[in-house]
Amino acid sequence: MFVGHYAGALAAKAIEPRAPLWSYVLACQAMDIAWGGLLIAGVEKASVDHSLPGSALILSHMPYTHSLPAAALWSVAVATALVLLLKLPRRAGLFIGLAVLSHWLLDFLVHRPDLPLIWSGPKVGLGLWNHAVLEQAVEMGLLAMAGAAWAWRRGQQGHGWAGAVGFLGFLLVLQVVPLLKPLAGDPVSLGGAAVATYLVTCLVAFFVEPRTRKARD
Ligand SMILES: [Zn+2]
Repeated sequence: MFVGHYAGALAAKAIEPRAPLWSYVLACQAMDIAWGGLLIAGVEKASVDHSLPGSALILSHMPYTHSLPAAALWSVAVATALVLLLKLPRRAGLFIGLAVLSHWLLDFLVHRPDLPLIWSGPKVGLGLWNHAVLEQAVEMGLLAMAGAAWAWRRGQQGHGWAGAVGFLGFLLVLQVVPLLKPLAGDPVSLGGAAVATYLVTCLVAFFVEPRTRKARD
């Protein structure tokens, strides 16, 4: 699961538009941003095997970012921090928290069993990655549905289509790049590419958001 995670951000933004888009975009990948950082630091472990279907990633150790209790903690921490920082309504904080948690649920759908249920185990994952075409279809389908809801909501608020089309187009490019360029195997390149990609996506989300009025819409 890569850009499919942004379905969580766009759905949240469609339902509760009072938080800025970039905050939802950050929230839905918060666990992977932390993962990239801890991979670089050598705290969490991953490697790649290009013979694997769907995703080349072997995620052998990631209790701090991808265990179920860690996901719950990240959800509360990110939501609380953004509510305080951006002075958001509580309901927006709730949806930011849900966007963080959606990451774990979508990872659960596609990962081979590598997500610790408690701290280091038992590890779970439904393994949709083993069916690469189906996995891509699910990911794109979720993104299309949430993207349509978000674009419709923007239309209701009187905004043009250009920003929505631009952001969704950017996500499609992001999805295609790894298919053309295989993942690097060393943790620093892997983690660095992940963090850089997710932060650039936040920046793009910031720029596609209309900011004509004080209301965050
Ligand atoms: Zn993840």
